[in-house]
Amino acid sequence: MVEQCIIVGGSHAGAQVAISLRQEGWDGNILIISDEPCLPYHRPPLSKGFVSGDKTLNDILLRPADYYQTRNIEFLHNVTVLDIDRPNKQLVCSDGETRRYSKLALTTGAQVRKLDLPGAELAGVHYLRNAQDAQAIRRTAVNAESAVIVGGGYIGLELAASFRKAGMHVTVLEMSQRILARVAASELAEFYTRVHEEEGVKIVTGTSAASFIGSHHVDNNVDTQPSATDSSKVVGVLGTDGKDYAADIVIIGVGVIPNTDIAAKAGLQVNNGIVVNEYAQTSDADIVAAGDCTFHPNALLGRSLRLESVPNATEQAKSAAASLCNKQKLYASLPWFWSDQFDLKLQIAGVNHGYDRVVVRGDAQTTRSIAVFYLKQNNVIAVDCVNRAPEFAVIKKALSKNLKLRVEELANESIKPKELIIESDV
Ligand SMILES: Cc1cc2nc3c(=O)[nH]c(=O)nc-3n(C[C@H](O)[C@H](O)[C@H](O)COP(=O)(O)OP(=O)(O)OC[C@H]3O[C@@H](n4cnc5c(N)ncnc54)[C@H](O)[C@@H]3O)c2cc1C
Repeated sequence: MVEQCIIVGGSHAGAQVAISLRQEGWDGNILIISDEPCLPYHRPPLSKGFVSGDKTLNDILLRPADYYQTRNIEFLHNVTVLDIDRPNKQLVCSDGETRRYSKLALTTGAQVRKLDLPGAELAGVHYLRNAQDAQAIRRTAVNAESAVIVGGGYIGLELAASFRKAGMHVTVLEMSQRILARVAASELAEFYTRVHEEEGVKIVTGTSAASFIGSHHVDNNVDTQPSATDSSKVVGVLGTDGKDYAADIVIIGVGVIPNTDIAAKAGLQVNNGIVVNEYAQTSDADIVAAGDCTFHPNALLGRSLRLESVPNATEQAKSAAASLCNKQKLYASLPWFWSDQFDLKLQIAGVNHGYDRVVVRGDAQTTRSIAVFYLKQNNVIAVDCVNRAPEFAVIKKALSKNLKLRVEELANESIKPKELIIESDV
């Protein structure tokens, strides 16, 4: 009987598992079951060129349709996998069918964290995770003059930049005392706050949304709840600081949660993600997992973690595919990430978890180009580079290969980036 590998989820990780399976010599069937209506696409442009209308879905496809056809990779769209029946090696699907697998890859990614606030269901209040969300945002944004972004993380700030470039009045509400609190040092947050403010974005910290105000809102001390009839659309946000912020469109960007339900129900180990080893294998020999949905060990970092990034999804998927073909491809890549806002290209290498000191290279007060190095016990563990491609390349290489850096010279701009490595072969 022909073997069948089923991949659940058709995005960065899912597509790469399929592609790598063929490269590794898998000659059985490959079926990608996706609850989305379209072929896999690049998700990062959703908050950048796609939401602004510069790019279409076709422009951002990972691969064209014929790429998959020629490799005999099949898709089943608009179908959700509801259950994994491990004893019988079959999947229960939302179209009422069960489908048998010989090997299974879980690449289910993550979903947005929702805010259960009054008025959250009003027209014009959006989340952003997929192309359909982005298309809906685009439709609302076309006629919008003001936007409120709830959450000052990377995706919220990218959207703020896209909306501002389109000429909207943009306010970012951030619950913490500064933006990027979960992911970056205050030095980088202050830099981004300055640039956003220079561009005309209003950033309000220490404040979140208390409720969303609809167009049918009646403020007569009797009915102060936002009304949410079908025709009611958002007109503003009531902040937790008691102030009203005008908004024709609201985006809630307060993080994501990994999609682990089907894995947990099937008895696979889940702990802030589907637990896998360094070969992307779960505790079931026939099931691998890759991408945003996994909690995995990283030998370079010496600990396990869950990552939300395209390079992680792609690289881990390659290991997953190798494992499915009974080969071993260690996944131990250095985590890296990027974000584009206005003319700022941010590239991050490493994970700054546990840093005890920060060194800044460049003038963070007046320029648009800096590098923020994170140190732990006098060793660089991560770097955030804004418009600093040479520094990024050097530090990424040093961290990946465990090369020593001249820590005392990090801030010294007269030293070329490649000279920061001791005994460099750059
Ligand atoms: C707006 C935005 C901007 C971003 N910008 C960047 C960036 O600049 N740089 C960067 O590195 N990363 C960025 N990211 C993060 C990056 O897109 C993710 O890390 C990446 O998409 C993870 O890929 P994945 O395949 O693991 O999961 P996902 O992309 O989440 O895909 C999982 C897929 O599985 C489907 N699915 C889930 N459960 C089921 C089921 N039971 N049955 C069928 N289908 C299912 C989902 O609908 C989805 O299509 C961004 C993300 C967003 C949303």
